[in-house]
Amino acid sequence: MKLDCWVVRDLLPLYVENMVSEQTAEQIKQHLAECPACQREYDSFGSTSRLDVLDTPAEFPQTDAKPFRKVLRKLNRQMHGLAYGLIIFFILWGFSLTGGEDLMYNSVIMPIVGLFGYYVFKWKALYKMPLLLLIINFLAYHLRFAQIDLVSVFPWTAIYSIFVVVGVLIAFLLHFAFRKERKE
Ligand SMILES: [Zn+2]
Repeated sequence: MKLDCWVVRDLLPLYVENMVSEQTAEQIKQHLAECPACQREYDSFGSTSRLDVLDTPAEFPQTDAKPFRKVLRKLNRQMHGLAYGLIIFFILWGFSLTGGEDLMYNSVIMPIVGLFGYYVFKWKALYKMPLLLLIINFLAYHLRFAQIDLVSVFPWTAIYSIFVVVGVLIAFLLHFAFRKERKE
């Protein structure tokens, strides 16, 4: 039995979606092979339905992206705030060890401060962190966090700055390596 064009066109939407019986599909396939007009109709169907498929997933992230990005930005801000707090805490803690027995802990604490510094300030951490270190160390000195004299604040800050800068450079290299890996 040969199908009429109008029957085929009526069935095309179902055929495209695979919602016709096997026999009907066979008939339509035969008809399409012999009828260029219906084949063209089918082709346009195929392309639009394929576009639909492409459009749908693209639209979902688009509509979802805004609130998601908002949440991400808010989270990022909170993480920065947290990192900032940790920087101040670690500097205070490290400086309070100055002149004590646990002084050497600073060879670990200060690079960690540098890691957080890079996270918050990126490459600007290279000068912002030593500055922050100096300010906080002065405050810490005035609050009597460390048992040292005022003149010693400068050399200790300079020494700690070197460790902090090492931490910043490590963070930069890690960041650089990860970004390169993601690109490849
Ligand atoms: Zn036809």
